[in-house]
Amino acid sequence: MKTAVNKIYNPEIECMSREAIREMQNERLQKTIRLVYDKVEVYRKRMDEKGVKPEDIKTIDDLHLLPFTEKTDLRDYFPYGLFAADLKDIVRIQGSSGTTGKPIVSGYTENDVEAWSEMVARALYAAGGGEDDIVQVAYGYGLFTGGLGAHQGATKIGATVIPMSSGNTERQIMMMQELGATMLCCTPSYATYLGETVKEKGLQGKIKLKSGCFGAEPWTEEMRQNLENLLDIDAMNIYGLTEMGGPGIAFECLEKDGMHINEDHVIAEIIDPVTDEPLPYGEYGELVFTSITKTGMPLIRYRTHDICCLNPEPCACGRTHVRMSRITGRTDDMMVIRGVNVFPSQIESVLMRVKGVTPNYMLIVDRVNSTDTLEVQVELSEEMFTDTVSGIERIRDEIKENIKSVVGISVKVQLVPPKTIQRFEGKAKRVIDNRKLGF
Ligand code: ADP
Ligand code: ZN
Repeated sequence: MKTAVNKIYNPEIECMSREAIREMQNERLQKTIRLVYDKVEVYRKRMDEKGVKPEDIKTIDDLHLLPFTEKTDLRDYFPYGLFAADLKDIVRIQGSSGTTGKPIVSGYTENDVEAWSEMVARALYAAGGGEDDIVQVAYGYGLFTGGLGAHQGATKIGATVIPMSSGNTERQIMMMQELGATMLCCTPSYATYLGETVKEKGLQGKIKLKSGCFGAEPWTEEMRQNLENLLDIDAMNIYGLTEMGGPGIAFECLEKDGMHINEDHVIAEIIDPVTDEPLPYGEYGELVFTSITKTGMPLIRYRTHDICCLNPEPCACGRTHVRMSRITGRTDDMMVIRGVNVFPSQIESVLMRVKGVTPNYMLIVDRVNSTDTLEVQVELSEEMFTDTVSGIERIRDEIKENIKSVVGISVKVQLVPPKTIQRFEGKAKRVIDNRKLGF
């Protein structure tokens, strides 16, 4: 581990007692519900339909009385229908990268931008960052929250920011080397690509990076190991979504055992995605957020479709905010293969434990003679590519058997030459489902 110091940006808030957090949440929840009831017609109507008045919501135990908000609501009431502030008080619009369908937007008041910046500042501090750091931001800038989010957070901690945005890998590495960047912010898949390129160029000893905050897409523990080795850094997970403000909603501390959720700004719940009932701590389900400080576009019980579990146990770092596990998948990227639920992350875990393949893979789902098929395409490493046929066959069998035992389905495995699977500068696309086409 390179980043040995445990730094806490706002200890008063990040380490407050559970009781104090709850009290703060209750108070802020009441205020937010009053705000949306008064200012957002959709919420007022829905609460009226359910027979819930703002004064019925006193504590977070009353959350279940409130209606959910869905991604479709952001599309249906696009662009301003869910805003709780007058446009004159909205200082920024950001939008989702549109992984699933039409883009959506979120509006920020000055306070919202400030709160968001602090959330990212906490994440960068937790990754060992500070005013002496040079932070290279290789998330895309623009409507997507990644670039500006990381930029504002890095500015807040007084670091020197290199606003590279995503892409242009050669230049990215040249700047990283010449300017002596010490921290990197981008998607884990792009970081891996940068790492591979650094290695290929024989520049591993010349890069000064010590850590980075990587998020915006699901990744596995195995992928972290690989990335940490490639760039000789601490690779920290950071989570967020446009609807809640952007990256920084939750972030890892050096324990690397779950991401602390900024509970002074959001309330997290886990629900059963089928019955919609709240689930206890420790159980996996769909993550649902309620904003409690936003004034631009506060969302109530927003269904993220992200699957994870929550852990309220005290953390060795001293922070008291609840931790969320890695996202194991989105309910909408779950593949149902011959009746079995399969997440790309399960396959990724298996692949990353096999020697001789790279973290570059693509999953191709199809339907042949009314039967679902899953083909796993994965790149061989340079060394393995020139190995014997029997060596390559051994890898293929190993992958097939491990997927069968971990996921429970038979798949076709295709080993492809190095550098033949598409690389991504932003969020990686791992699944091609041909079943959805042409039917
Ligand atoms: P979208 O991807 O829906 O266009 P965003 O750009 O706002 O919208 O991305 C938010 C989504 O990205 C989250 O809901 C989640 O699915 C994914 N995401 C963000 N950070 C992480 C992370 N650290 N791990 C896994 N998934 C993440
Ligand atoms: Zn911690």
